[in-house]
Amino acid sequence: MVYENIIIGGGASGLMLAANLNSKKSILLIEHNSQLGAKIAISGGGRCNFTNKNISCSDYLADCSFIKNNIKKYNNRWLLKFFKNRGLEFSIKNSTEYFCKSSSSEILTILKKEIKEVRTKLNCEVLSVVKKSDIFEVTTNIGKFKAKNLIVASGGLSFAKIGASPIGYEIAKSFGHTIIDTKPALVGFTLQPSEAFFKELSGVSVEVAIKVDGKEFKGSMLFAHKGISGPVVLNASLFWEKGFLEIDFLPNLEIKELKNSTKMLSNLLPLPKRVAMALLKKLEIKDKNANRLAKEEWKNLETLKSYKFAPAGNFGYTKAEVTKGGVDTFEVDSDSLMSKKVNNLFFIGEVLNVTGRLGGFNFQWAFSSAKACADYING
Ligand SMILES: Cc1cc2nc3c(=O)[nH]c(=O)nc-3n(C[C@H](O)[C@H](O)[C@H](O)COP(=O)(O)OP(=O)(O)OC[C@H]3O[C@@H](n4cnc5c(N)ncnc54)[C@H](O)[C@@H]3O)c2cc1C
Repeated sequence: MVYENIIIGGGASGLMLAANLNSKKSILLIEHNSQLGAKIAISGGGRCNFTNKNISCSDYLADCSFIKNNIKKYNNRWLLKFFKNRGLEFSIKNSTEYFCKSSSSEILTILKKEIKEVRTKLNCEVLSVVKKSDIFEVTTNIGKFKAKNLIVASGGLSFAKIGASPIGYEIAKSFGHTIIDTKPALVGFTLQPSEAFFKELSGVSVEVAIKVDGKEFKGSMLFAHKGISGPVVLNASLFWEKGFLEIDFLPNLEIKELKNSTKMLSNLLPLPKRVAMALLKKLEIKDKNANRLAKEEWKNLETLKSYKFAPAGNFGYTKAEVTKGGVDTFEVDSDSLMSKKVNNLFFIGEVLNVTGRLGGFNFQWAFSSAKACADYING
């Protein structure tokens, strides 16, 4: 039998594609997990942050000309309508982030219902693909399957324990596609010896601003056992390649506001006392009344507004929420998501070189790209 469409990967993008393709009976959805949508299930702390109120190219590490039409055409309003019409209840966090009201399983239930007529093979691992004449032949652990269209929706490398694999990149490479270097992203940073003192602060959270690659992120930073983490760090990791980033430990304060105070510095700085003491020690500033600080000490204190921090590395794919890099989008048509090299071969979702910051942007991309691809295939 030759299917019309084989979809590799039953994650966010694969499920949304199957849900939007006409003639469901001619689709084969292949997933090597024993369940569909494993990442959706654990995402957003179990409540799946599936989109955001404000979405633009600047929320992504991607070629803007590739993503802009799809994130505009199949935007948050389209996505909210899709889920709302099917009964999803949601809530908004941090004024822009849309989450399922009670559990990620609500989204999964909706998507599964939409694809109930689709032939689905679970526990089926794709091993390789070839194209003979106009037909794709997909080799799996349980046999070979054939289709006219092949859609690679196999995601990135993060969280291998719930199914991530390099198969999408391997298939792309075998058809002559370029893979932009893949790296863990939305992940914590490990420390150089110069910041080993951060470890003593493990478990403490502070509000900071981080500047990286011309972008600034504000939010919570968590001192962790092996380094630093928290939303602001995860966002910074998306844009950090190597070298220094700058941490502003006092994002809501100008140092000159402290100058005439008679209070002890450690009480004056709007930081947990343990953090204030550790930073003062690092900057060789004695804790004393602010108005008694020497000129040199004021200069050192300014460092807290632009603390230069060079990560040693990151916590790796086991902790990273996403993978940056992937199939080069210059070789994929932005409207149809079809390969420019091989007819009827498509790439959607995270397998592409498109990565969003925290806040629902990665699911939005997975769903938008899937819908664009479905529209093209439906004709
Ligand atoms: C812990 C965690 C929390 C997250 N939270 C959020 C969030 O709240 N908001 C947000 O926007 N993003 C979040 N993300 C990112 C988001 O989950 C992904 O960007 C999104 O799932 C990508 O969709 P996808 O369809 O491209 O890939 P996936 O959803 O990863 O789906 C790919 C599927 O392909 C299957 N597969 C892989 N290899 C094979 C093979 N050889 N054979 C058969 N099947 C295969 C996988 O098992 C998987 O089911 C989170 C990620 C993690 C890890």
